[in-house]
Amino acid sequence: MGEFDLIETYFRWDNVSDDSDDLEGVIIGIGDDAAVLQLESNQQLVTSIDTLISGVHFPEQTPAAAIAHKALSVNLSDIAAMGAEAKWFTLALTLPDVDHAWLKEFSTNLKALAAETSVNLVGGDTTRGSLSISIQVMGTVKNNHALLRSGAKPGDKIFVTGTLGDAAVGLASIQGHLDLSNEDKAFCEARLNYPTARLEDGDAIKEYATSCIDVSDGLLQDLGHILKKSKASAVIDLDKLPLSECLQNLNIDLANKYALSGGDDYELLFTVPAEKQQMFTEKVIKKNPTQITMIGEISNQYAIGAILNSHGINLTGTGYNHFSDDISDNDKSDK
Ligand code: ADP
Ligand code: MG
Repeated sequence: MGEFDLIETYFRWDNVSDDSDDLEGVIIGIGDDAAVLQLESNQQLVTSIDTLISGVHFPEQTPAAAIAHKALSVNLSDIAAMGAEAKWFTLALTLPDVDHAWLKEFSTNLKALAAETSVNLVGGDTTRGSLSISIQVMGTVKNNHALLRSGAKPGDKIFVTGTLGDAAVGLASIQGHLDLSNEDKAFCEARLNYPTARLEDGDAIKEYATSCIDVSDGLLQDLGHILKKSKASAVIDLDKLPLSECLQNLNIDLANKYALSGGDDYELLFTVPAEKQQMFTEKVIKKNPTQITMIGEISNQYAIGAILNSHGINLTGTGYNHFSDDISDNDKSDK
């Protein structure tokens, strides 16, 4: 099978063709030298790309379904974190060989998530080599309304969607570092392999948020990005960290460490001004299908980037070691 047949068979989906007018903004999709996409005059293009390499970003035995889901989700998550609407994506696929069972599973799952999130595959590239998947997502935002990392102000409340640390616990379980019940194991491993991009939440919060980031590298690290860009510090209430039942079943110190430092959750972390908090609670939090939790406040009292708990202990300084490569080693570390 040649490259062209492969593209036709697996990536030229019924809902993606260059002569259909139900495809929002797709003037030319797959099949020409490049895609042509239509923007409205009051919109800006928001775009992001992420690459997943076998053996680096996912274990070699990861099912094709999970790879497809994760490759698209992590990109959609970046679009959500910008408060943008995801519209189109391109796929650069490097395959070691043409494995039809793998390609069918990959394309079926990619198409399912694309349909669910209303994004259209408009092009890509197919090459031979070690397995690697790059997806570039494009979305739109009203002119100058993108949610940036730089907008947090002292006094703003810090919120997070969903629960934290589940994916890292899932990884620790796969690697044999944690022994979980079958139910907890299934939940956390699904959180790792099938993350949900918080697109609807990004849309719901965009009128209120002053800054936003998606939690891909752990709460402390990603909050640190907001703080550095916003030239601020923060106080976090550890008692408020949203923990799933699975993390609640762990020792509380260990659960907090996963929630603070575990990566791959793809939840949205954002700030809302204190004076908008009540309206935000009424209009968004109470109605939102995904849990949204206030976990702390932006401050100007400490060094830029510093994150303290409510007892004044610096969570990012030495003596509170969250940053071991192997998070399970943290059990033994001093706090
Ligand atoms: P070119 O040689 O001009 O780069 P290609 O042969 O690489 O063209 O691709 C032909 C068409 O198929 C283009 O529209 C391209 O965007 C699309 N395409 C190639 N690979 C993929 C893929 N993996 N998924 C979706 N579209 C693809
Ligand atoms: Mg090409």
